[in-house]
Amino acid sequence: MSCLFCSIISGDIPCHKIYEDESTFAFLDINPVSVGHTLIVPKAHAENLDAGSEADAVAVAKAVYKIAPAVMKAVSADGYNLGMNHGECAGQEVAHTHFHLMPRKTNTPRTWTKLHPSSESLEETAATIRAILG
Ligand code: 5GP
Ligand code: ZN
Repeated sequence: MSCLFCSIISGDIPCHKIYEDESTFAFLDINPVSVGHTLIVPKAHAENLDAGSEADAVAVAKAVYKIAPAVMKAVSADGYNLGMNHGECAGQEVAHTHFHLMPRKTNTPRTWTKLHPSSESLEETAATIRAILG
């Protein structure tokens, strides 16, 4: 089975990682809708939330709880959208459960347009988040 996010988790495909624990992994979306757009995933492959274990669903929620304040601080956000696309009809393109954490700023248009930042700029954001997470 070939899965993009499993390859990212194993390190076979590079990413701008911000966090990892025993059962979850978080990294920056390569085409963010806002600076700091983070993907939070269970390490165990499952096509969607229902297909994975309850323990992994809880672990991902705990990771969001830990990561979200650090991401907000790193990019000076005032809030965020947290989302998950479940199924192709909902816009899911990668068949490995992932939550989207999308920082938002007051008085800034809430766009869903995908950006194409440089790898250097993504790494700079990731490094700032990692430093805050410690
Ligand atoms: P979905 O549409 O499945 O909910 O979200 C998949 C997300 O993965 C998209 O926001 C897309 O930009 C992101 N993505 C696709 N390929 C890569 C990749 O190779 N690396 C990273 N970091 N993100 C990716
Ligand atoms: Zn996978």
